[in-house]
Amino acid sequence: MALIVQKYGGTSVGTTARIKRVAKRIVETRKKGNEVVVVVSAMGKTTDKLIELAKKITPNPKGRELDMLMATGEQASSALLAMAIHDLGEEAISLTGPQVGILTDSAHTKAKILKVNTKRIWEELRKGNIVIVAGFQGADYQNNITTLGRGGSDTTAVALAAALKADICEIYTDVEGVYTADPRIVPEARKIDVITYEEMLELAGAGAKVLQSRAVEFASKYNVKIHVKSSFSKKEGTVVMKEVKSMEDVLVRGVALSKNQAKISIDGVPDVPGTAAKIFTALAKENINIDLIVQGAPDAEGKSEITFTVSRDEADKAVEIIEKVREELGAKRVTCDKEVAKVSIVGVGMRTHPGVAARMFSALAKENINIELISTSEILISCLVREKEGEKAVKILHKEFELEKE
Ligand code: ADP
Ligand code: ASP
Ligand code: MG
Repeated sequence: MALIVQKYGGTSVGTTARIKRVAKRIVETRKKGNEVVVVVSAMGKTTDKLIELAKKITPNPKGRELDMLMATGEQASSALLAMAIHDLGEEAISLTGPQVGILTDSAHTKAKILKVNTKRIWEELRKGNIVIVAGFQGADYQNNITTLGRGGSDTTAVALAAALKADICEIYTDVEGVYTADPRIVPEARKIDVITYEEMLELAGAGAKVLQSRAVEFASKYNVKIHVKSSFSKKEGTVVMKEVKSMEDVLVRGVALSKNQAKISIDGVPDVPGTAAKIFTALAKENINIDLIVQGAPDAEGKSEITFTVSRDEADKAVEIIEKVREELGAKRVTCDKEVAKVSIVGVGMRTHPGVAARMFSALAKENINIELISTSEILISCLVREKEGEKAVKILHKEFELEKE
């Protein structure tokens, strides 16, 4: 008997008919003699709709209340899924994140899991229940409901699999696995059979939303084998695991696009020690993550420009914070550009093969795509481009590195 954690994403439970179909698949797994813990996302676009509702009340809802609101989506789908399983004659119980005992920090809307209490889940499994857990949520020390960031149900699933020492964590979604690029942008993209945590982490961080990057981080830390599959077919999917010898060092494994980007620039910053520290400390205090950073050379008057990127949904808050620092620094102006996108290539082969960056920049230049910011790490190169050119850039790079070929 194996302990299996399965996670079903929003599209997979988007309608009542789909919930019933997912219930059948879960019952099949159970009938094979497995213990099953299921993590479920909110139905379809529910989370987007809840956020829209909040924004109709106020443009800047408080994180705590937004979390109270967003968590209802998963609460609804988990209850409906339990009902569908009951209807098939199996025992099941739905639990919210706080009911399970998923303890998080208090960073509302992007909380980190600190601890997972498995007691209640084990009790329910022992009673013969299939346990359905509402994904994407937990509670902090004061019992405030928190959410784990968009796409966070993946992280709930992997965290549970780690805490329960599950045999496998299956992530069911609306594509057949992890591809060399988003198959909705690049139809020729190829499904990857096996990928390392390291490459998957970079792809997820670069915007390949098929897995939340936190989930991959967790999986890598606790060595949880993830199997990404389609909930609409029985095909093999993609295994995400630690490196095995037979996996050759592919030069470029995949291309990713992130549109959730905004570029913020501060003009006329006095070129004295401590200015960058002031700016980024102020942002860090408010829990805003910075991605790319560039500081220009000082001009004749000793003033320079600092540019960085943040996720678009935090751009307004970041500008508000920077405006305050600007006065203190005596800088000239803060500007924010939300019409940007980040395109990235990922591959462990970059470590040993020079010239990949040059090839990436040349391919984009040949098609007249201007690169605004660049950042690189050992196995990742990212370029900020105009948002309207993002998808084209992904297609160009997919072709340049011949990712459609075996
Ligand atoms: P779920 O609701 O199941 O969590 P998501 O929408 O969060 O599903 O993630 C699946 C989507 O991720 C796919 O529909 C696909 O458009 C997108 N995606 C982006 N990059 C990739 C990639 N490299 N491989 C597969 N899917 C990708
Ligand atoms: N429902 C949440 C979202 O849309 C979490 C998830 O689906 O993983 O982001
Ligand atoms: Mg998702």
